[in-house]
Amino acid sequence: MRRSIKLFEIAGISIKVHITFFLLLFLVLGLGLKWLFLIVAIFFFVVLHELAHSLVAKKFGIQVKEITLLPIGGVASMSKIPDKPYQEFLISLAGPLLNITVVLVFFFPLYYLLGPEILFSPLSVRTFKHTIAHIYWINLILAAFNLIPAFPMDGGRILRSILAQRMGFQKATRIAVNFGHVFALLFGYIGLIHGHIILIVIAVFIYMAASSEELQVDIKETLKKFTIKDIVSSQFLTLEKTATLSKVLELIFHSHQEDFPIIEGGQMIGFVTRKDIIGGIHQRGMSAPVSDIMRKNIPVLRESDSLDKAQNLMQDNDMRALPVVKNNAVIAVATIEDISRVYSVMTTKR
Ligand SMILES: [Zn+2]
Repeated sequence: MRRSIKLFEIAGISIKVHITFFLLLFLVLGLGLKWLFLIVAIFFFVVLHELAHSLVAKKFGIQVKEITLLPIGGVASMSKIPDKPYQEFLISLAGPLLNITVVLVFFFPLYYLLGPEILFSPLSVRTFKHTIAHIYWINLILAAFNLIPAFPMDGGRILRSILAQRMGFQKATRIAVNFGHVFALLFGYIGLIHGHIILIVIAVFIYMAASSEELQVDIKETLKKFTIKDIVSSQFLTLEKTATLSKVLELIFHSHQEDFPIIEGGQMIGFVTRKDIIGGIHQRGMSAPVSDIMRKNIPVLRESDSLDKAQNLMQDNDMRALPVVKNNAVIAVATIEDISRVYSVMTTKR
């Protein structure tokens, strides 16, 4: 996520903090040390919650690059939606389960250390003991809130994964999305009646997240129906490694192709995308050869690959285009625009 600062790394996952979070800390600092302690502790448990999701996801081969803390909570950026419903079920359950575990494990120790009066008193930061009780109950609230069966909460994903065992993924998503919309409207209604602005904001957030989940799944399902062979044309240009960046820029303007394989002796030795070329001109000037900036060891696509797979591969490698290879020779270049064109054609047909 942009405008985030990396704090540290655990199990290959960067823990980042969005700059708006520092604003929150700054505001809280004015309220006193106990508030600061409360906020830092809450976010500690939010990170643990996201880590629980991430570690289970990693077990299923899903890449998790980073966890970002925002003032509204944590976000683990996963490379894709899990393939199997039971994987999504376990990944989604892991977060709330962590908070529930904290609640169960610390109940008796805190009961004796703080005493029932403080442990069961209304949430406050009156004393440090009250603050610790506050942090303890926040774990229960985190678990309960995340188990609401609506996207983007974990409960929405758990609901979808249970439904998806019985019906298609797309249909399961649609039902879970409708659930999300109903919850959003309910929250919005309660918020309006009681004049509770935060509840209204949450309602709008849930409504939009549910809709966006449905769109993403629709795109994914549409892309699964097509292969690379359906979209690429065999007309494309390649570069020699000695081609200068000014020459490449000229080619982009004349051909509308923006990403090129670099060929030597009939074999592909590298690949450049529009971004590489623009960055290369900035750093090395127009007369540098393309071999200076080309990417080596890049993943390749085959004609039989689904567009869904192609899109995932592009996202995972942060590339907007990839070469298509057949019998060790490059036969086409597939771009993210080629893929999104299929989707826009398919959706306007309806
Ligand atoms: Zn979660």
